[in-house]
Amino acid sequence: MKKRKVAVLGATGAVGQRFVQLLDGHPWFTVTALTGSERKVGLTYKQACRWVLPGEMPAWAAELSVLSSEPEVDAELVFSALPSEVAQSVEPDFAAAGYHVCSNAAAHRTASDVPLLFPEVNSDHTVLVDAQRNRRGWSGCIVTNCNCTASGVTISLKPLLDAFGLRRVFVVSLQSISGAGYPGLAALDMIDNVVPFIRGEEEKLESEPLKMLGSCDGTRVTKADFGISAHCNRVAVSEGHMVCVTVELGRPASVAEVVDTMDSFAPPEMVRELPSSPPQVLRVRPENDRPQPRLDRDTGAGMTTVVGRVRGDSLLHIRYVVLSHNTIKGAAGGSLQNAELLLMKGLV
Ligand code: NAP
Repeated sequence: MKKRKVAVLGATGAVGQRFVQLLDGHPWFTVTALTGSERKVGLTYKQACRWVLPGEMPAWAAELSVLSSEPEVDAELVFSALPSEVAQSVEPDFAAAGYHVCSNAAAHRTASDVPLLFPEVNSDHTVLVDAQRNRRGWSGCIVTNCNCTASGVTISLKPLLDAFGLRRVFVVSLQSISGAGYPGLAALDMIDNVVPFIRGEEEKLESEPLKMLGSCDGTRVTKADFGISAHCNRVAVSEGHMVCVTVELGRPASVAEVVDTMDSFAPPEMVRELPSSPPQVLRVRPENDRPQPRLDRDTGAGMTTVVGRVRGDSLLHIRYVVLSHNTIKGAAGGSLQNAELLLMKGLV
């Protein structure tokens, strides 16, 4: 396959750097442009970006000039790691100019004709791309991936919804500092501390899984019919969002049935073949003190979601802990997978 030219918008931030790292040597994509805010335009990426990931900044990226985030880049597909308020107008400008935008930002996730894609969960929702193009007159499109905390919750609920149905879900998140971007929160707010509020997160966690787990008739999504109640907390962990989940199923099931259903979950074959798909999308650990962010977030190169402590609940049916890598599966890695899916389906 001829490699497709791609750009990263907001390439200097926490998610932008992950894109650059994950796109290094990608079999289907080659990066031709990196953008930043006007403050960085004209600098080389090496000058503009304080690289905060393990390993070296890729040499090809270091010498690229940082461009303005305007739809004039030499690429057909763009990955957006822009702040939501910037993405609100910039992403439609790109889509209208014919670019295929795979976005991490929240700005367009709730639009009825924008797919909120999670390939292992709702690869059929790509049909919304045609509806979007027809309705808006765009030759490009916008496809989004979900909030980084909603990622682990959604994939862990998918097999349970399919096998047993869901009625009510209570979640308490323990979210890492990198979820707030770079440089993010002040060290003095985070060291020796837990902050029990993250603006907008509870609303996203209570709604995005319902869109992803909903059914799509080709023009719109009917949300899944169960309730989610969320508490979100920021904790002093660098990467990896952990969530404690308590579930009322549609019908009672034993712990063994739930573990087996989650552990044997397999996405559609087309999704398994995408270059960024992990060998195992959901892994259930048997130890009573796992998953842990430091030990488990890099499972499947950060693309596998790890579940543990599956047990009965005295009020509802089942409870468990789920961990997902927020800047990989929950952001850049998930977005890359979305782009691969669009390509595989002939939508790019
Ligand atoms: P970040 O570290 O603050 O990075 C923001 C990026 O956007 C930087 O490259 C910044 O460039 C650029 N930017 C800022 N203002 C701009 C403007 N007016 N025009 C053009 N570019 C501008 O944030 P992040 O954590 O990477 O998040 C990026 C997006 O992904 C956000 O929408 C966020 O909600 C979403 N997201 C983040 C995570 C996560 O775990 N962090 C997970 C999922 C989704 P400069 O360096 O020039 O300022």
